[in-house]
Amino acid sequence: MHFDRHGKRIWRQAKALLDSEHARRAIGEVAVPYGVCTEPSNVAAGGQDCPVRFRCVGCGHFRTDVSYLPDLEAYLADLLRNRERLLSAVDVDDWAKREAMPSDEEIARVRRLIGRVKTELDKLGKDEHAQIREAVAIVRRARNGVVGLGLPRIRQPLPDLRVERTA
Ligand code: SF4
Repeated sequence: MHFDRHGKRIWRQAKALLDSEHARRAIGEVAVPYGVCTEPSNVAAGGQDCPVRFRCVGCGHFRTDVSYLPDLEAYLADLLRNRERLLSAVDVDDWAKREAMPSDEEIARVRRLIGRVKTELDKLGKDEHAQIREAVAIVRRARNGVVGLGLPRIRQPLPDLRVERTA
């Protein structure tokens, strides 16, 4: 269950790809906090050379998948919390406050992406859902370094794939 920045499913035919093709594609990406980046100069720099200051949800080189759902939710909570803190900050120049303020657009984009991922999860049957939960737990353990894949260490909450409908 992979998604682009708009929450559009990608890799629907992933099963049909040869293993070598998976490996070739994996070489051309680098981990970012909520997914992966395929921007060549950033990949070449090991994720240290983003030309747009890590605005991944607005970038065509960004990919995410269902295992990042808790991180996307944590990111949204962070954006909302930061916005509240900035609104109440007094000893900060207006320009600095303005530039540090998370934009409504970014908040809306993250919210929409989370919604799309949850909608796709919601379409799964009980068995598929259980399989995804299991796969996500393994992927996140590996990502957190328990299995040790050499990926950047990013603190991540435990997976919670419960789908909560709001309407
Ligand atoms: S904003 Fe784009 S180029 Fe920068 S790290 Fe994110 S995906 Fe890569």
